[in-house]
Amino acid sequence: MPLRKFQCPECQSSLIGTPDVGVMCERCDARMTVTDGILDFVTGNTGLVSEPAGPAMPYQELKNLAAGYWPGLLGSVLEVGCGTGLLTRGLIQGNEATDLVVTDGSLLMLQATRRHLGQAGLLTNIPLIFATHRGTEPVFRDSAFDTCAGTSVLNRMHDVRGFMSNMFRWLRPGGRAFFTEPNVRYHRALGQTLADILALLYREDPGFSHGKQSLLNIVSQWRRGILHLGDLPFLAALEDKHMFAGDTFEAMGREIGFAKTIAIPVAFGPTGVGFIGRLCEQLGVEEPVRSTVLGLLPAFADRYLSLLSPRDRTDRFLFWLEKGVGPIARHFRGPPAMEGELPTDLPDSFRVGGLPPRWSFELAASRTDDGIALRVHGWCVVNTDVRWIRVTLGGVGRDTPVWLPRPDVPASVDPHAAYASWNALCCGVDETLCFPDGGLDLRIEIVLSSGAIRAVPAPPNLTLDETVVVTQ
Ligand SMILES: [Zn+2]
Repeated sequence: MPLRKFQCPECQSSLIGTPDVGVMCERCDARMTVTDGILDFVTGNTGLVSEPAGPAMPYQELKNLAAGYWPGLLGSVLEVGCGTGLLTRGLIQGNEATDLVVTDGSLLMLQATRRHLGQAGLLTNIPLIFATHRGTEPVFRDSAFDTCAGTSVLNRMHDVRGFMSNMFRWLRPGGRAFFTEPNVRYHRALGQTLADILALLYREDPGFSHGKQSLLNIVSQWRRGILHLGDLPFLAALEDKHMFAGDTFEAMGREIGFAKTIAIPVAFGPTGVGFIGRLCEQLGVEEPVRSTVLGLLPAFADRYLSLLSPRDRTDRFLFWLEKGVGPIARHFRGPPAMEGELPTDLPDSFRVGGLPPRWSFELAASRTDDGIALRVHGWCVVNTDVRWIRVTLGGVGRDTPVWLPRPDVPASVDPHAAYASWNALCCGVDETLCFPDGGLDLRIEIVLSSGAIRAVPAPPNLTLDETVVVTQ
């Protein structure tokens, strides 16, 4: 029975009972929450239910991709983030798992998956346990599983490295794990391509269309995620938190101690037409926007995709990890290049991306019960990766991202399309920042991903309940 793979989260002792009648700790008498036969370790789980970002991948396709790495039997399996249960079905029907623990962060998702499996008559093929789990709750025993698997699940986890380290312990020596996850470099290249195409479409017709707007929304979201890659406090609030570079992920696997970590390209997408075609379908992009975008794509994408290595021309990777049977070896690279204090003493003439930055911000400060609320609304076009607009009020700094879709901005400030569309179209800023009740002396800076900081000329002080507009 797969229950012996679990442990009491309080005292690490064995659990007894069954999910149907009740589960408790054999030592400390802690009672596990069980809802509809599902072990509920994620307390207070209100269950955000939404489809995973990437398409789920059928079992047979995964098996074909893993090819020679795929073992004869998967043994005891932990499925992470079952979502709608497509992989769950494959794991049950594939006849290669001896038992299966199906997890998801959302109780509602698990209830739906369990119901669908029941309707398909798949609940009794192998021993099954359903449990809510977000990847970090200490409820699995060390070396409990032969296989861990999931599709489009690491990209939604808060702390991927923490989860991977836990999973390393849950796997038996000789065990393996596999996940399909989005490739950041491909998304960046196609995001830049789509931005160029959308800029052209907006120049031809600045009017609203559902297709243009929903594609631009996606480009803005990708760009925000990519420019803030690895910034956990910022990403915490987003549902899709991460995309992955194959080599960075491989290095992380080696550092955690996996004997083998391989990023296998899922599909060869030399033009992006297949990937963007599926995206248009998901978003309901109407004609003629859809055929115009797909028609222009190969020519526009070549500029960015040709810079990628052949292995990176895929929207997703299958990450395949194996835990060795011998002594564990952890391999570390040097510290990341971007560490330490950011330089702040750059000359005023400092230019970025070959073009001067442009901006327009409205700042309106008002007093609240907790201090001072400062609404910052506007846009900032910088022709390179920009991480934040940093507003310092009374000596306290607050950062706000530059990311919102602003199709109106290129038309007014960049009629000759000198700035990269990726930067010019996704340049909006809109946030209310909260400051303690200190002074109103003001400083505004542009913080680039490179760490460089550019001051924005601004009045030295704000006045409450007055709007200040800063433009260049
Ligand atoms: Zn206990």
